[in-house]
Amino acid sequence: MTENKNFISVDELRPYLKESNNVLDYNNLVKALIKHQEDLLNGFELLIKNLKTLDKCQIQKIKIGSIVLNVMLNPVRKNSLLSSGFKDRLEKAQCKLCNLYPNQRGLPIINGKYIIRINPMMVTRGDLTIATTEHYPQVIKGKFADMVYIAKTLSDFSIFYNGLLAGASNPHFHFQAGFKNMLPGEMQIENFLNNIEKYKVEKIIAKSNIQVLYIPDFLRKNIIVTSTSEDELTEFFDFFNNDFLDISKNIKNLNGVPDFGEYIDSIKMNELEGRMNLLLK
Ligand SMILES: [Zn+2]
Repeated sequence: MTENKNFISVDELRPYLKESNNVLDYNNLVKALIKHQEDLLNGFELLIKNLKTLDKCQIQKIKIGSIVLNVMLNPVRKNSLLSSGFKDRLEKAQCKLCNLYPNQRGLPIINGKYIIRINPMMVTRGDLTIATTEHYPQVIKGKFADMVYIAKTLSDFSIFYNGLLAGASNPHFHFQAGFKNMLPGEMQIENFLNNIEKYKVEKIIAKSNIQVLYIPDFLRKNIIVTSTSEDELTEFFDFFNNDFLDISKNIKNLNGVPDFGEYIDSIKMNELEGRMNLLLK
């Protein structure tokens, strides 16, 4: 594995592993990293400051149809929400995923191809950013198998991918993660899947080791895939990714948003993937 001063060692995490009985799996290592980075003595100042702000944020629930939405005024998200991954050319020197904040440290995964860090611009405590250690563009092609591996390894967390023109705030390749079932939408999906008849969930593909479903009443377009096989899931994703690309070609004339397929300055190439958000667990 490549040496990297940003990587934290198991020895540095050991004082934070006591509650896990020193079992060194990735779930426990990441939980220890969260504790290390939140520690007033050794930790990451911006994270500690933002957690205090997060504690004061109020949440208002609103219901649209059968779906409950949480509305949150969260000032720590301001910079991420105002920055757009596709608008400006970003050189490595200014990239927040190439250059860590003072005292921000991370755990390597997949032989140091990725670094797991605690996101200081969090929605909830324990939000993670899992970025490539190299400045690769935010394009999922060829990296979905990594996402499957990470989701399987970090089984206490849900892993997310936001496409460059579907909400990513940085063009440097990254996944996000958070403690499993913390987002209301995740629990709503579980509820739909447990009540398929009641919510008229449509089955698009129903095979023994893969099911593809669609929830009609979920306020946003969605495709749910459940599978017992990593290979089947990856094969399906490649197929889906190609077909979804065709659908996204119809995105044109939206205010402030490039037409699909235009040259994107931040990644120095034409857009080449469908505009999608993925959640894997
Ligand atoms: Zn970068």
